[in-house]
Amino acid sequence: MTTTQQNFIAGEWRNGQDVIENRNPSDLSDLVGLYAQAGPSDLDDALAQARKAQQEWAGYGLERKQAVLMSIGNELMAHAEELGTLLSREEGKPLAEGKGEVYRAGQFFTYYAAECLRQLGENADSVRAGVEIDVRREPVGVVAVISPWNFPTATASWKIAPALCYGNAVIWKPANATPASAVALTQIIARQDIPKGLFNLVMGSGGSIGQRLVESPEVDAISFTGSVPVGKQIATAAIQNLTKVQMEMGSKNALAVMDDANLDLAVALALGGAFGGTGQKCTASSRLVVHASVHDAFVEKLIAGASAMRVGHALAADTQMGPVVSEQQLAENLAYAELGRTEGAELVCGGQRLELEHQGYYMAPGVFVNTRNDMRINREEMFAPLTSVIKVDGYDEALAVVNDTKFGLTSGIVTQNLARATHFRRNAKTGVVTVNLPTAGTDYHVPFGGRGDSSYGPREQGRSAAEFYTTVKTAYISAGEPE
Ligand code: NDP
Repeated sequence: MTTTQQNFIAGEWRNGQDVIENRNPSDLSDLVGLYAQAGPSDLDDALAQARKAQQEWAGYGLERKQAVLMSIGNELMAHAEELGTLLSREEGKPLAEGKGEVYRAGQFFTYYAAECLRQLGENADSVRAGVEIDVRREPVGVVAVISPWNFPTATASWKIAPALCYGNAVIWKPANATPASAVALTQIIARQDIPKGLFNLVMGSGGSIGQRLVESPEVDAISFTGSVPVGKQIATAAIQNLTKVQMEMGSKNALAVMDDANLDLAVALALGGAFGGTGQKCTASSRLVVHASVHDAFVEKLIAGASAMRVGHALAADTQMGPVVSEQQLAENLAYAELGRTEGAELVCGGQRLELEHQGYYMAPGVFVNTRNDMRINREEMFAPLTSVIKVDGYDEALAVVNDTKFGLTSGIVTQNLARATHFRRNAKTGVVTVNLPTAGTDYHVPFGGRGDSSYGPREQGRSAAEFYTTVKTAYISAGEPE
């Protein structure tokens, strides 16, 4: 009999009020496990104990906190093979991507371990004689982390690591599509020298336990990654309690390919950016804005590359693109493939469901050509292995198309012209911009986030994370002598 994996509440592993099945999207006959669903009383207990634990944790010495984060990071990196396999099995990304994600998650913890010892304040003289000012950051308190399934370990880690580094307690509501990765990370954190209840895993559906979490006045800050509609719902709940909120949401990233681009590089960047992670990345290259003079040559190479991609079981050694995460996501993707055709775009390859050896949610990588930027396939986040080519007459038009979106997460240009690259870097209206690099794939020690509907609140990662996970205190000090 399969044992149910439990939630971690107030320092104890607990059953919930319900159980869900987690199946491998590469092979639906493979049951990854059974996972407890927390009830309201579990959440209430987690919140109450987190408040006490946070105060204890804030009083831990810097080196003790650093040791905890370093140990979590090292364990993740040491077990990247095993945990990456589990991640790929439940989420569907190829094994190399799964392992890479777990390793990267470890690096978030080791980076923030070091940051524990680098929390410097500021000081200043007051405008009043004999008065000095000390500005320092204090923990924000109890942080709710709500994470998606597409990077189940990395996204959660880039929130949990800074939350702990800056002295906070955490209540983590992972996506129900990827509970195995959540339990695996929690098992590592639970083994550490931390106060009872500092870190809580509360699995359950977003609409029930997630909503209850974001509505709680016991939460001081909410960090969310997911869709725009859910983000807006969370912000609406948060404002009722004036809870601090940070959100990373949808995107419609564009890669501009100029007439002087190295075409082989451009095609490689487009294929990786559009189909890596089965297109289920907030940084995916879903619009390819291509100069008319290289359009036909680029499209020919792109179709050849997409058609040659090996779609298969995430754990098979030769798989280049795994399945889509769920039946619902697959149905939405197929609907977008159809919508594109209805809008007049030409689907020149892929975009259909694939029946392979194992029953799973497989789809062929799809390329649309003859598309316009005002089509819905170029305006809405599809989160699918589908990409659109938009032909433009020159650089100015390319830049205008790249910026013509309500989103603004990442954008990229492929060019050998330094002046153009510089202009693009300065004028693309996105939080991240790349030159001769994929739109996906960012570092952990620098800010990450976007503009428009892509992000709300302070940037994540690097030192920018301090802005969200701390609150600033300004102290005025006088020697206490009469003037
Ligand atoms: P959601 O926004 O629905 O889910 C993200 C997280 O929020 C999950 O943990 C989810 O829980 C939780 N959640 C859902 N509703 C609530 C709520 N009312 N209160 C609190 N938490 C909630 O994204 P999906 O996973 O359903 O994906 C749908 C679409 O969202 C994708 O197709 C894609 O377009 C976009 N998306 C974008 C991401 C990005 O990085 N830009 C990441 C993920 C999704 P649960 O899943 O358990 O219900």
